[in-house]
Amino acid sequence: MRIGIGYDSHRLVKGRKLIIGGVEIPFEKGLLGHSDGDVLCHAITDSIVGALGLGDIGRHFPDTDKKWKNASSTKLLSKVVELAGKKGLKVSYIDAVVIIEKPKLMPFIGKMRKCIAKTGVPVNLINIKAKTNEGMGFIGKGQGAVAQAVCLLSHMVK
Ligand code: MG
Repeated sequence: MRIGIGYDSHRLVKGRKLIIGGVEIPFEKGLLGHSDGDVLCHAITDSIVGALGLGDIGRHFPDTDKKWKNASSTKLLSKVVELAGKKGLKVSYIDAVVIIEKPKLMPFIGKMRKCIAKTGVPVNLINIKAKTNEGMGFIGKGQGAVAQAVCLLSHMVK
């Protein structure tokens, strides 16, 4: 088995769509990024890249590459799930947490899990949690959002 950890953060700014876990969430601000800024998909992607022992997300999807400009981050996630498969590994579990002060993510978590499952990970193997930062720091002030993820990969039985 392999284990991986992922972390990501993005600024919350006006004039961007808020996309988390592949789901568009109605809000006055969105996450700033070269891609769609999907902090959750990035943290999960990085956890899988880590478990594969292949460095980090930036190495595979550089933010200087026009190909990934405004790209849907579920696409990046699909790519690494596919990469794991090529290496004979499958995702056995993902647990993740998004920390954002506003809006409340609870109503969207089911949809996020379904959306992430489209990348090739069974929905029952994906857990997503959402928290606020109790008003503290940059998250509390609504300046940005953070996501953390761990994943477990296991060897496919031949
Ligand atoms: Mg990111």
